[in-house]
Amino acid sequence: MENYVTYSLILSNQNSEGYYKRISEFTDEVLENASKNLLTNVKEYTNFLLDFKLEEIRSNEEYYLELLCFGLLWKAYGKIALSIRTAPFLTLSRMAEWRKQNQKLKPAIDFARGILVTLFLLPKTELDKNIFKPSLQDIDRLCLWLEATGEFREQALRFIRWRAYWETMSQKRWEEGCDDVFKFVDWFKSRANIVLGEFTENVANFLTESGNHYYWREDRVQCSRTRDEYHLNMVGAEIMNRAFKKDFINTEVKAILVPGCMRKNINKCKAKKIKEGLICINCDSKCNVNKLREMGTNNNFKVFIIPHASDLSLWAPKPGKPKRGVIAIACVTTLVEGGWELKRYGVCAQCVLLDYSGCKKHWHKEGVQTDINIRELKRILNN
Ligand code: SF4
Repeated sequence: MENYVTYSLILSNQNSEGYYKRISEFTDEVLENASKNLLTNVKEYTNFLLDFKLEEIRSNEEYYLELLCFGLLWKAYGKIALSIRTAPFLTLSRMAEWRKQNQKLKPAIDFARGILVTLFLLPKTELDKNIFKPSLQDIDRLCLWLEATGEFREQALRFIRWRAYWETMSQKRWEEGCDDVFKFVDWFKSRANIVLGEFTENVANFLTESGNHYYWREDRVQCSRTRDEYHLNMVGAEIMNRAFKKDFINTEVKAILVPGCMRKNINKCKAKKIKEGLICINCDSKCNVNKLREMGTNNNFKVFIIPHASDLSLWAPKPGKPKRGVIAIACVTTLVEGGWELKRYGVCAQCVLLDYSGCKKHWHKEGVQTDINIRELKRILNN
């Protein structure tokens, strides 16, 4: 697909089947490498979680992903976070939560957050020294920054738990653990560029060309993600789909959450508003949401259009109701965060990536109707 905004899973005007094959093979490679380099860290951490009864132990792969996210986000944002002397971190974090829970106030909150994010969270000058191994205080600082952006809350919550464990380690062991993580992250960055780079070729251009366009805007951090972060989310989504698959299969009813940009014509859309979002009423046979709705009538799933950054706790299991599995369709940059948020609410979830991004609100001047790989959706639905 030509003229895509930042990424496209479709190469040579075919479909995204090649992407799904490649991401599956690459994820195997990432996990194999992680088990060689990070297993000791993960074993020690899970012993700590067990000793203090902090959580039910999950698969090693989920903890590898947490360490990969930590190392990569530290490299991407550590210097920015440490460059800030003072900022209303807590207010910004709270505002990010309010905008999810109150769609009516969202435009006003976004306006205010856009100004505050630019003023406080993205300093004009950054520290001019590289900090290779963060101290515990540096990690605190990073977590505050991540939460305040509203884009990384779930990841910050996980890093805070790791931080509690790191505090119990000797300096020597901490240094060794850090070396393992950053060595692995460096390998991931360069290898992902080779394997997945074809799908994200336009990210660098987009970041250069969009220049000051996102200045003072709430979505500035969301739309300024690095190419490494796209690759991280692609692999993260695959790891999560594998880890959460068993729970999803065992659900009785299914719901598919789609973003509004999959609609043919947003301005003329007649979808009905309900508590969870919008329900398609079949006003346009060429609309991609309508095609999914139709598919759902024969395949026992319902389709809900949900706004970006909406309250995912609505999908949490309810006593007395059938167990519901959710397939979330989303743009690459939001996958890991959304997956962990659904997990925190106990939702049995899977995800399918938008083949490319194109919504008018964040990415494209006129807006283009986005789409997914239906074969991938069927594979998930049919186990
Ligand atoms: S077909 Fe459905 S989702 Fe598409 S524009 Fe019409 S009501 Fe909206």
